[in-house]
Amino acid sequence: MTTIAAALAGIRADIASNVAAAGRGEDAVTLVAVSKTKPVEAVRGAIAAGQRVFGENRVQEAIAKFEPLRAEGTEIELHLIGPLQTNKVAEAVRSFEVIETLDRPRLAEAVARELAKGQGRLRHVLIEINTGEEEQKAGVLPGDADFFIRDCIDRLRLPVLGLMCIPPQGEEPALHFALLRETARRNGLRILSMGMSADYPIAIRQGATHIRLGTAIFGARPA
Ligand SMILES: *Cc1c(COP(=O)(O)O)cnc(C)c1O
Repeated sequence: MTTIAAALAGIRADIASNVAAAGRGEDAVTLVAVSKTKPVEAVRGAIAAGQRVFGENRVQEAIAKFEPLRAEGTEIELHLIGPLQTNKVAEAVRSFEVIETLDRPRLAEAVARELAKGQGRLRHVLIEINTGEEEQKAGVLPGDADFFIRDCIDRLRLPVLGLMCIPPQGEEPALHFALLRETARRNGLRILSMGMSADYPIAIRQGATHIRLGTAIFGARPA
């Protein structure tokens, strides 16, 4: 077994035991393999081990890495997990099945306009919530979340299915995951993308439906 295949096998077993311990259904949690900065060979290793859902934080890097794999006929579900500039919206809608980082009206309007053209891979979007209210971090502030979610769904008719967050470094993540879960529940949204390599067991206990793991699968990234 390759290193990546072994890591994936270990993670899948660990996810299954955490899901069971939380009393949740077997398929309750989807693993998003975060391959940012990693070469296409690493992605191929994960695909060979059965992984099909991937996360990338840059539009160009994702296209360069994944379009050749798609051209070979491999079925991939690609998630954008990094900040999106409005001038990259057309490419993002064309190339990603899911955008997890919708976080401002201008961007939401641009995505809605692009989706209205009826082309591209995009199936749904998640709204990123800045649960820690960190100045340097992207995401909608918790106090603005309900209004922004309603605006995206009711006015822009965007397919918003859930929420995403990245808790602040060094804080208890469970509180942030609980805030995300509560915001989603209040707004009738079913997808919760939360939990990374360091905290995914906690996220699974708090109701995560998608966990985004990079380091645990592919090893450390250059600083
Ligand atoms: C890089 C990244 C991850 C993966 O982080 P790891 O700690 O390597 O698992 C998850 N989510 C987002 C938004 C990221 O940018």
